[in-house]
Amino acid sequence: EEPSDWEQVTLPLMQSFYKPRQRFAHKGTYGHALLVTGNKGKMGASLMAARACLRSGVGLLTVSTPEWGYPVLQTAVPEAMTIPRDSTAKEDLSKYTIGAGPGIGTEKDTLALLEQLLQHAQKPLVLDADALNLISENQQLLQYIPAGSIISPHPKEFERLFGKQPDDFARMQRAIDASREHSIVIILKGHYTLTAFAGRGYFNATGNPGMATGGSGDVLTGILTALLAQQYEPLQAALLGVYIHGLAADLALKNQSMESLLPGDIIEHLGQAFKKLQ
Ligand code: AMP
Ligand code: MG
Repeated sequence: EEPSDWEQVTLPLMQSFYKPRQRFAHKGTYGHALLVTGNKGKMGASLMAARACLRSGVGLLTVSTPEWGYPVLQTAVPEAMTIPRDSTAKEDLSKYTIGAGPGIGTEKDTLALLEQLLQHAQKPLVLDADALNLISENQQLLQYIPAGSIISPHPKEFERLFGKQPDDFARMQRAIDASREHSIVIILKGHYTLTAFAGRGYFNATGNPGMATGGSGDVLTGILTALLAQQYEPLQAALLGVYIHGLAADLALKNQSMESLLPGDIIEHLGQAFKKLQ
């Protein structure tokens, strides 16, 4: 029998990936995430990614923000540190696990920073939203994405990056091929999110249409960055992140309807979702 190129992600598989918290752990054990998120009119994306990152076990979180965003961030997410967006490229980036894109906009200086991040990250990073839109507009950047990085496009972002496809099936096949071509993990978001890596595709069945509200994807970026910072292998971080994101949204429906579910409710239920892995 031919081995299948597709498989469905199950709870037992996720439990086998899950790394329990160590008794003698300290904050340095769980990585230092740097979220490059938010800009004028889109600071909410930054707050949601930051909160989700913290609720997913990261040891330390720094957020790169325009300086006028300091009071917003430090009030709404007091656990996070902040650095100025315009001097982020001058930082020692090697100490961070970087997640970039939600709400950053597509201005010239943001493109320049993204180029610096891709060249100096020296390890896998998480890219979503406007980071992917910037790469779509500057396709030569695709080759600079470090191997093992995770990108999480929704179908429109995917097609901007890799071209229009005749149907959903073709788009999924293109994701699997592109993940191999570029040695990256591609999370093609949707009702059944497909995670593609090294020529294989993995379907996720957690999550619900209540997540079809702006900000749900920003929550996923925070979760993925936290897991990568905690030294999960990129494919494991992607599969576990997508699973837990959907599971938290499903658990949130105990108190919410599909209509009323907000990205913040997903974040609030990450704790219950992680408990299912233990
Ligand atoms: P974004 O489009 O970047 O905000 O991301 C939306 C997130 O919500 C992705 O993780 C999707 O998989 C999830 N999502 C949106 N609509 C649905 C749906 N109908 N069923 C399950 N998950 C969904
Ligand atoms: Mg999005």
